[in-house]
Amino acid sequence: MGTNTVLIRGARQLVTLRGPQRPRRGVELQQVQSISDGALLIRSGVCAEVGPSRRVENLAAARRANAIVATGRVVIPGFVDCHVHPFSAAPWSGDADGTARELLSVTWKRHAARVRTLMHAMVRHGTTAAQLLTTGSRDPRVESKVLRVLQALRDEPLSLSEELLLELDPSISPAALESVLRRYLVGREAPAVGLTWNPEELAPEELVRQLRVASAMGVSLHLHAHGAAAETAIRAAAEIPVAEIAHLEEASATMAGALAATGAIATLTPGSYFSDKAPPAPARAFIEAGVPVALASGYRPGTGSSLNMQTAMAMAGLVLGMSPEEALTAATFNAACAAGCAATSGSLEIGKSADLLILNISDYRELSQHLGINQVHCTVRRGEVIYREGTVSSGPAVNEAGREA
Ligand SMILES: [Zn+2]
Repeated sequence: MGTNTVLIRGARQLVTLRGPQRPRRGVELQQVQSISDGALLIRSGVCAEVGPSRRVENLAAARRANAIVATGRVVIPGFVDCHVHPFSAAPWSGDADGTARELLSVTWKRHAARVRTLMHAMVRHGTTAAQLLTTGSRDPRVESKVLRVLQALRDEPLSLSEELLLELDPSISPAALESVLRRYLVGREAPAVGLTWNPEELAPEELVRQLRVASAMGVSLHLHAHGAAAETAIRAAAEIPVAEIAHLEEASATMAGALAATGAIATLTPGSYFSDKAPPAPARAFIEAGVPVALASGYRPGTGSSLNMQTAMAMAGLVLGMSPEEALTAATFNAACAAGCAATSGSLEIGKSADLLILNISDYRELSQHLGINQVHCTVRRGEVIYREGTVSSGPAVNEAGREA
């Protein structure tokens, strides 16, 4: 390449998601900031100019740039999938010892190959950044192994962050919990810890006590509030600062105000309506109460869940009653906040990474009107095309008798 300046030109709509650099709530979720006939100038992988084509394309730097043509198409920021379980095992999947044994029996290389395949599929569906969870196994050999896999895959081909998933043990002492966390978190920058628990075993006061221990260690706390854990999670977040609460399918709409007051991002995975027959989370009540909502795939291998964030957006419309704008903000900017990468990802603004999608639609609202159809024409990361859709051939020629010639 002769120049590291790239121009994305002629977008029918360039949806920037420009706005406040903190989780968006209420009507802010509606404000996606779409520019009709937009262009984007990228320098060294970073957005340098964003605006109407007639202004951006006339800049001297734009005339010398390598052009990527988006004519007639929609450009949006790359999706951020902030809740992905790349490994098959999860603590609530039943046979914990069996799954731990299985994870240990698979070689490190094979795990890495599987996760890489998954990441490539995510890129083809428009995800440019993701937060991947560990297994939540209590066997430290399993967790150390998968953390090593995730670290080796960082930055290839999408921006990855890892979240250590930990199932809280009701009988653990504060000192023991601290040493468990220290074992995994040593040397990690801004570590994110996802906590899950069995609400029948762990009393609410004990949950708060354990969160306090983790919080004092400077980690970003993410709660996985499955089933009946929703209410305890919201109450605990009122006492201890929590960055994100995921799942919440069984939260009551009457808790929306209390949830909003905690400031935590609510990450919803409407795909679990399909994969786990989970009830729909009360998203409308959350949004109206001012809860910053994020969307994620909640993907887990072997459960029938989808890794396609376009499907998560469509499901958010069908199942949760979210508008296309709300779903788009939740799947990009707010999801970046939940994954801790909003400084670089989630919106197309000057100074942020040029991670974007060119879509085969002419209006961004169409994203919520198709279920499971991949609309990605190109995935661009740091100004470079990392995926471009293939062509369909016309197949063998057929003669008049209808036989292959
Ligand atoms: Zn989960």
